Amino acid sequence: MDNSSPILTPPSAPRDFGFFLDGAFVPAGERDVFERSSPGHGVPVSRLPRCSEADLNAAVASSRKAFDDRRWAGLPGAERAAVLLKAAELIRERAEEIAYWETLENGKPISQARAEVGGCIGMFEFAAGLARALHGDSFNNSGDGAMGIVTREPIGVVGLITPWNFPFLILCERVPYILASGCTIVAKPSEVTAVTTLMLAEVLSDAGLPDGVFNVITGSGSVIGQKLAEHMDVDMLSFTGSTAVGRSVVEASGKSNFKKLGLELGGKNPQIVFADADLDDAADGVAFGIAFNTGQCCVSGSRLLVERSVADVFAEKVAEKLRKVRVGDPLDEATQAGAITTDAQNRTILSYIAKGQEEGATLISGGGTPEISGGQYIEPTVFTNVTRDMAVASEEIFGPVLCVMPFDDMDEAIAIANDTEYGLAASVWSKNIDKALTVARRVQAGRFWVNTTLAGGPELPIGGFKASGWGREAGMHGVEEYTQLKSIHIEFGKRNHWVA
Ligand code: NAD
Repeated sequence: MDNSSPILTPPSAPRDFGFFLDGAFVPAGERDVFERSSPGHGVPVSRLPRCSEADLNAAVASSRKAFDDRRWAGLPGAERAAVLLKAAELIRERAEEIAYWETLENGKPISQARAEVGGCIGMFEFAAGLARALHGDSFNNSGDGAMGIVTREPIGVVGLITPWNFPFLILCERVPYILASGCTIVAKPSEVTAVTTLMLAEVLSDAGLPDGVFNVITGSGSVIGQKLAEHMDVDMLSFTGSTAVGRSVVEASGKSNFKKLGLELGGKNPQIVFADADLDDAADGVAFGIAFNTGQCCVSGSRLLVERSVADVFAEKVAEKLRKVRVGDPLDEATQAGAITTDAQNRTILSYIAKGQEEGATLISGGGTPEISGGQYIEPTVFTNVTRDMAVASEEIFGPVLCVMPFDDMDEAIAIANDTEYGLAASVWSKNIDKALTVARRVQAGRFWVNTTLAGGPELPIGGFKASGWGREAGMHGVEEYTQLKSIHIEFGKRNHWVA
């Protein structure tokens, strides 16, 4: 990919990819192939094999063998770290190509895709350090003649199911940490955005990852994803996606081998704005929080709770910002909000925009579907006069639709914020540290931002409270999730006999 080229265009013909098994790409051969069109341009860009159950079994067997023979788990942490650092270097070299394919399949702006790939490099670099830092505990207080050691052992073969909204970023918030722990992986990316996961397989192989440690199968969630969740030889499943499918993987685990689950599911995330906030900064942050990735973001700030005295003025400030967001061709460097990733998601968002109006909310901005470069686009949309019982205020839309609700005091703001089955993320905007920190403590969310939103780094664990999920990814916690503890009690010296 030519980084200096001023105008990027989709490929003239779709490119064929194979799935990745035991260190090599396997072409589709006799298998069915599914074709993916760029949501930003409406032209086919990639063709991938629809893997069979036999392919899945082969991938699990490969990862199982690679784990059991200790070709990865048995290495010193320093050697695992070296592979992760080399992978970071190779991602940096291939960043432009990865960002291009991310944009083609997902529809996100190329500038954003580039920034996300940059973030992924940091994940690999940070996780490399963790491969060396991971440790257990020891107890030297059991009396003379005894001691205890607690070791952390990699859990085994990890199934990794990822969604389409951040195909590469979500992958890289997991893979380097899982690899740092010593586990092996069978990845199943979303069928509509699988290419960059296959690119990561190649990067890892080139970086020296032993064959079989990272396998990628391509195919539908309902067939391959379901079988992966049910598989008896998979020790843990990390699932990121919708709450409905999350429920089904919990059942699959219960019906099979009780594999451990990491779940990151939906959100209906509050942005709480007090009258004492810097309202210009807050308006910009709220606009970013809902329009970034066209709101197809599990942590999008989709509920705006504003102190009543400034509610109307502030809603208009946000709407004004959103009207200026550059919605456009994702391959255009200037674009800030790209296409809606799937046809189904496009229909869902538009149906919620219609529903909000039917329910009596007032649409003060957006809602249109601009015609751009043959793709599917929705303008950032703002509803006021929203009440908590409306579907637009309580259900995850997963699109650029903001619902504004006023509050009278901090207790009411916290009550509205927590009035949801979800608990993924939240933000507060205030210059009063007492208010900001009280809200931070009392809002139920796995990620919380003060005077900012959608921020973070490889050090901070991510995950949700309540129905937003189980467990944490990234940071040292994200490595520990993929380990299990073993207690080793040791006695030395002469035994006190039980039988005289
Ligand atoms: P989805 O649940 O439809 O699909 C997610 C993944 O699961 C895909 O790879 C899909 O192929 C697979 N899948 C589908 N059916 C399956 C089954 N029966 N068994 C196993 N796997 C199956 O979600 P999506 O439409 O790709 O993504 C949107 C949803 O994901 C939103 O609800 C969003 O909130 C959530 N999400 C959450 C996070 C987070 O970190 N919490 C991140 C991104 C997306």
